[in-house]
Amino acid sequence: MSEIRRDPTTGDWIVVAPRRLERPWQPESFCPFDPGAPETGHGWDVLILPNRYPVVSADAPPPRPDGFYETARAYGRALVVVETPSHDLDDLSDLPVEQIEKVLRMVRDEAARAASDPGVLYLLYFRNKGREIGVSLTHPHSQIYELPVVPERIARELERAEEYWRTRGRCLHCDVVARESPSGRALLRGTRWTAFVPYYARWPHEVHVYPLRHVQLLTQLDDEELAELARVLKAVLCALKRAVGRPMPYMMVLHQAPLRGDHRYYHLHFEIYGMYRPDGRLKYAASAETGAGIYTLDTTPEDTAERLRKALASCRRDAS
Ligand code: UDP
Ligand code: ZN
Ligand code: FE
Repeated sequence: MSEIRRDPTTGDWIVVAPRRLERPWQPESFCPFDPGAPETGHGWDVLILPNRYPVVSADAPPPRPDGFYETARAYGRALVVVETPSHDLDDLSDLPVEQIEKVLRMVRDEAARAASDPGVLYLLYFRNKGREIGVSLTHPHSQIYELPVVPERIARELERAEEYWRTRGRCLHCDVVARESPSGRALLRGTRWTAFVPYYARWPHEVHVYPLRHVQLLTQLDDEELAELARVLKAVLCALKRAVGRPMPYMMVLHQAPLRGDHRYYHLHFEIYGMYRPDGRLKYAASAETGAGIYTLDTTPEDTAERLRKALASCRRDAS
C-alpha cells in the first residue's frame, strides 16, 4: 500500500508509504552506499541510485478513490545521490569543488530526464545533514523525489510570485535579491550567484542562494552557473560548519518551478536551514512552528549574517 493523500483543510500532500519502515537505521557495520556494496560497484565518484525504500515509484498502485478525499497515485522516482565514495567524509563542503560540480551536473541530467516523464510534475532535490535531525545513513548523500504533485510550500511561493508578477510586472525574487544583496544580511556575491540570510529567515542559521539570472528550472542553468554554484555552496556550507563551533545540522532544499506549465514569474533558489542556535542548541519546529506555521527566532538575521561572514572568512583563509 502506498498512496498520496491530500489534507483538504490545508492543501498539503502526504505520501503514505509504510514500507519505508523497513529501512535500516544508522547501521554500524555495513553501508549500502560504500564502493563494492551490492548496488554500488566500483570505479565511480558520484552515483545516483534508486532509493531502496522509495516514497514514490513507477509501479505504484492506482490510489483507492475515497469519494470524499483527494488522492493521487504515489507515482514517481525516489533517488539517492551518493556524493562521494568516502564514507567518513563529514559534509558536502569537504569535497573538492570539482566533485560538488559533478554532483550538481548529475542532478541536472536527472532533472532533464525527469522532465520527459509525463507522470512527473515536480522534482524536489534536497539534502539532510546531521544525526540530530534524523538522517538514517551518514554516508554523504542527497536525495531526489520526482513527484506527481507540486509540494504545497512550493505552490504557495508560486502563487505569491505569480501575483506579484501580475500586479507589478516584475519578479518578486529578483526584487528580494536586489534588496538583500547590498544589505547587512549579504554573505557573498559572485558574478552569477548571490547568498544571503533573508530578512524573513525562519531558522537560526538560514541562507538563501540565488542565481542572478532570472531562471525557473535547474535544467536552465549552464555549465558556468553550475561551476560557480558549486563554489558558493561549498563556501556557505563550510561557514555553517564553523559558525557555532560544532558542525551544524542543516536541511538544504532546491526551490524550482514545476516541470510543466508556464512559470516565467518564478525564480529558482536554494534554501539552507542551519538548525543550531548561536549557543549550539538545536532549534525544533515545535508547536508554534509546526502547529501554526509561525516561527520565532531568538537571533536576528543581521547578527546571523555577521557570524556567517566571519566563518566564511575563516574558511577562505584555510583554503588559501
Ligand atoms: N536507503 C537506500 N538503500 C539502502 C538503505 C537506505 O536507498 O540500502 C535510503 C533510505 O530509504 C533513505 C536514504 O537511503 O531514504 C537515506 O536518507 P536519509 O537518512 O538522509 O533520509 P530519510 O530518507 O531516511 O529520511
Ligand atoms: Zn527573478
Ligand atoms: Fe523559496
